[in-house]
Amino acid sequence: MADLRFDSQPPKHTDVPRPRRAEGQWSFGYREPLNKNEESKKNDDPLNVRDRILYTYSKRGFDSIDPADLRGRFRWLGLYTQRKPGIDGGKTGALEEEELDDRYFMLRVRSDGKLLSPAAVRALGTIGVDYARDTADVTDRENIQYHWIDIKDVPSIWERLDEVGLHSMEACGDSPRPFLGSPVAGVAVDEIIDGTSALAEIERRYLNNKDFSNLPRKFKTALTGHPSQDVSPETNDVSFVGSVHPEHGPGFDVWVGGGLSTNPMLAQKMGVWIPLEDVPDVWEGVASIFRDYGYRRLRSRARLKFLVADWGIEKFQEVLENEYLGKKLVNLESPASPVGHRDHIGVHAQKDGKSYIGVAPSVGRVSGTLLVQLADLLEEYGVAGARLTPYQKIVLIGVDNDKVEALIERLDEIGLSARPSNWRRNTMACTGIEFCKLAIVDTKERARSLVTELERRFPTLDTPITVNVNGCPNACARTQVADFGLKGQLVLDDEGQQVEGFQVHLGGATGLGANFGRKLRAHKVTSEGLDDYVSNVVTNYLVDRKEDEIFAD
Ligand code: SF4
Repeated sequence: MADLRFDSQPPKHTDVPRPRRAEGQWSFGYREPLNKNEESKKNDDPLNVRDRILYTYSKRGFDSIDPADLRGRFRWLGLYTQRKPGIDGGKTGALEEEELDDRYFMLRVRSDGKLLSPAAVRALGTIGVDYARDTADVTDRENIQYHWIDIKDVPSIWERLDEVGLHSMEACGDSPRPFLGSPVAGVAVDEIIDGTSALAEIERRYLNNKDFSNLPRKFKTALTGHPSQDVSPETNDVSFVGSVHPEHGPGFDVWVGGGLSTNPMLAQKMGVWIPLEDVPDVWEGVASIFRDYGYRRLRSRARLKFLVADWGIEKFQEVLENEYLGKKLVNLESPASPVGHRDHIGVHAQKDGKSYIGVAPSVGRVSGTLLVQLADLLEEYGVAGARLTPYQKIVLIGVDNDKVEALIERLDEIGLSARPSNWRRNTMACTGIEFCKLAIVDTKERARSLVTELERRFPTLDTPITVNVNGCPNACARTQVADFGLKGQLVLDDEGQQVEGFQVHLGGATGLGANFGRKLRAHKVTSEGLDDYVSNVVTNYLVDRKEDEIFAD
């Protein structure tokens, strides 16, 4: 494959007309930074901040940190300052970032679809206990997210992570963000293809690599060879989705340009077939298009989805083939979209005769203590390890069949349910006002109490209904693709006072019938009124539904 490094070999963009208005695309010679973020990245490669954290800031303390690193480059190492406690949601947009900043950090540790050994789960737990006031949430990008991290502890935390093959490199920032891998890769009996080696190779080649550390904005990757397409491929910048060619056998289709937030777009399917060994090269090509042609002038347009929408999928494929891969891809109809759950909850058969068990914490809220307890159980029951899922769940891999029931009982005792209610299974929540500087409302605790209340009011439900709770328009918990997508904002209560609440998006979905939830002006609810609102809508659906009519209909 050709050397794709832009500095050494600019792509030949003969077929792509130079835009009339400067969007800051490097490929057209717009190399001067057009905003503060671009300037910061040009001034110093964000990866260089690692050494300053290790050898300067961790030794001299919080006040020694250069503001450009603190609020910019730290993200490339998975570190964000967290929200100062006690600042309400009404102040979110009104205060400068430094006024919202606490002196502690959120630290995101990426798992990238890896099987976490019992030792790795223990390390993740003890880090939470020792350095993060016992926090350790499972996020919907298969990360463990800590809070209350002191800068002086970061080198010790990285050392402990390194010992078990984990890290926080490029877990945030304008970089290749954490990869979503199938939680059952290599073990599920119905798997089409195991993509584990491709993700490992992408990590080896392109993470901590200065050719890809200055992308226009975040770049999200998903890869699955499971027929349930269990990595939310519709909402990632690039996704590799298991597909079978009638002659060549199992491989992957490529989808590009998915993303939610304020201009949501579903990924467009290229309709190709590539073999496992070509996945890293194709990833490199897509990421390079984003780096070279991606819009850099406005942050709000600096995602791959805008380029894909403007070019169209055919043009995108043509540029990928002609300028980056130097060969044509094999065209093949995209695989059928699945119906049903993608979360692997419950007990399932493995190829090797053992079982895997998917368990649900409540809205991803886990703790260091719980992870240590989980590590104890993995060791006691001889389980191979665990994987995190894009639905804030955990899957235990390699369980002996005769130990399944006893293990499920023990997992239940520590708060991990293999047979959760619909509400616990299908509710997710982002970080929210507890720690996030962009948040307008509380999410985690609000969602947890919603789950408890809905379990009481609807103890049984014969059809899944999903609830995604988000603290602001950024849609980190995928607002637009849930039955109830909740976007945090201030709303008026009955007395006309501004209070925490949500804009409701109704009937969104991924998989078969993927679409965004309907957003009506009237679909707003106060946080306090949320339990009743959801209950009323669910009751109406249950009473009025026709045969086989799902909630999204
Ligand atoms: Fe923070 Fe908003 Fe993302 Fe929630 S959706 S984690 S509040 S940025």
